[in-house]
Amino acid sequence: MSQIKKVLVVGGGIGGLSAGIALRKAGIETELVELQPEFNVYGVGIIQPSNALRALDVLGLADRCMERGSPYGPVKMCTSNGFQIAQVGTPPMGRLPVHNGISRRILHEVLLDGAADNQVTIRMGVTVDTLDNGPDYVTVTFTDGSTGRYDLVVGSDGVYSKVRRLVLGDFKPRYTGQSVWRYAFPRPAELDTGYIFFGKKTKVGLIPMTADKMYMFVVSAEGEDPKIPESELVPRMKALLAEYDAPTVRTVIDQITDPAGVIYRPLETLLLPAPWYINRVLLIGDAVHATIPQLGQGAGLAIEDAVVLSELVQTGDPLPSVLNNFMNRRYERCKMVVDASNTLGEWEQLEWKGQLPEGANMGALMGKTLGAMGAPI
Ligand SMILES: Cc1cc2nc3c(=O)[nH]c(=O)nc-3n(C[C@H](O)[C@H](O)[C@H](O)COP(=O)(O)OP(=O)(O)OC[C@H]3O[C@@H](n4cnc5c(N)ncnc54)[C@H](O)[C@@H]3O)c2cc1C
Repeated sequence: MSQIKKVLVVGGGIGGLSAGIALRKAGIETELVELQPEFNVYGVGIIQPSNALRALDVLGLADRCMERGSPYGPVKMCTSNGFQIAQVGTPPMGRLPVHNGISRRILHEVLLDGAADNQVTIRMGVTVDTLDNGPDYVTVTFTDGSTGRYDLVVGSDGVYSKVRRLVLGDFKPRYTGQSVWRYAFPRPAELDTGYIFFGKKTKVGLIPMTADKMYMFVVSAEGEDPKIPESELVPRMKALLAEYDAPTVRTVIDQITDPAGVIYRPLETLLLPAPWYINRVLLIGDAVHATIPQLGQGAGLAIEDAVVLSELVQTGDPLPSVLNNFMNRRYERCKMVVDASNTLGEWEQLEWKGQLPEGANMGALMGKTLGAMGAPI
C-alpha cells in the first residue's frame, strides 16, 4: 500500500495532467494547480511517437488520441524537391502505430477529459507561493491565500519552472540558435504520412493532425537575436519556404496569410543534473529535461515520467526509494533524447553553413535514438 496519500501537482500542461491522471489511477488523492486562469493552447499539432502512445495507453488515453488525431507510419525524409531518401520512426508497439499526429488543443481536451474522469481536482489561476519542504510533509501556501499539506509535490510547471527555482535554485534554459515556425493547413489527399524535407538553410515538416488537417513546421537558424516582430512573421515564413519545390510544400505557401496563425518559437534546451528531487518535491517534464523537438519526444518523455512515478508510488516503498528509483529509470533515457536532439540541432546548423563534420550522420543518430525509445520504460 502506498505511503504517499496526497499529492500536489503544479502545472496543467501535458506532463502535469498526465501525472494527475496517473496518480489518481493509483488511488492517490491528487490536486493540481495551473497558473493560467484558463487554458489557451495553440491549434498547431504535436507528434506522438509510439512510446508516447504506449505511456498514454497506461492512462487509458491512447485510443482517444488516435481517434481524434491521425495515426501514421514512419516519417519520409526527402530532399527539398520531394525525393525520398530515407524513413525514420520509433518502432510500432502492438496495435500502436509508429506515430500519431494530433492538434495540441485536442490533446489538451483529451487530457482534461481524462483528468475529469479520474477526479483530479484542478484549480485554475493559482500557483504555489511558498513551499516548506519538511521531512514528513510539504506545507504549501498558494497565491490565493489558501494552504495545503502534501506527502509529495510534483513540479510540472515547464521550462521556466517556479517550483524548480523554489527548491533547486536558479537554472536557465539555453537558446540553441534555431527557431521553429508552425502553421496549420487543410490536409492534401497525397499526405499519406509525416514528411520532412531538407533544404539548404532550413528543414520543413508536414505532419497529419486529423483526416483533413495537417501542420507545417519550419526549422531555421536565427542567430543571436531570434525575436521577430509580428508584422514580419508571414513574409519571413514564406521566404524560408521559397527554395522548396516539393509539390506538397509549394501548394500551401500562399495559404500562409494570418500572422496570428504563425506559431514562432526560438528553441531552448535544459537538462538538470540528477537528482530531480529534494526531500518531498520532485520535478518532471520540461522543468528538468526540456528537449528541442528534433526527435519529437519532449511531451512523450513528460507522459512517461508520470507513468513511471505512478508505478513506483504503487509499490508501497518509502518515498526516498520511490524517488531514487524514479531517477534510475528516467535520467539516462531523458538525457539520451536531450543530448541527441542537441547534436542534431548543432549538425543542422553546421550543415547550413557548409561545415558539417565528417562522420556526422543525422539519419543514423535519429534511427539509433528513436529505435532505443522502443525499450521498456
Ligand atoms: C516548437 C516545439 C515543438 C515541439 N514538438 C513536439 C512534438 O512534436 N512532440 C513532442 O513529444 N514534444 C514536442 N515538443 C515538446 C513538448 O511541447 C514539451 O516537452 C511538453 O509540452 C512538456 O510538457 P510539460 O507539461 O513538462 O510543460 P509545459 O507544456 O510547458 O506545461 C507547463 C504548464 O505549467 C503551467 N505553469 C507554468 N508556471 C506555472 C506555475 N508557476 N504554477 C502553476 N502552473 C504553471 C503552464 O501554464 C503550463 O500549463 C515541442 C516543443 C517545441 C518548443
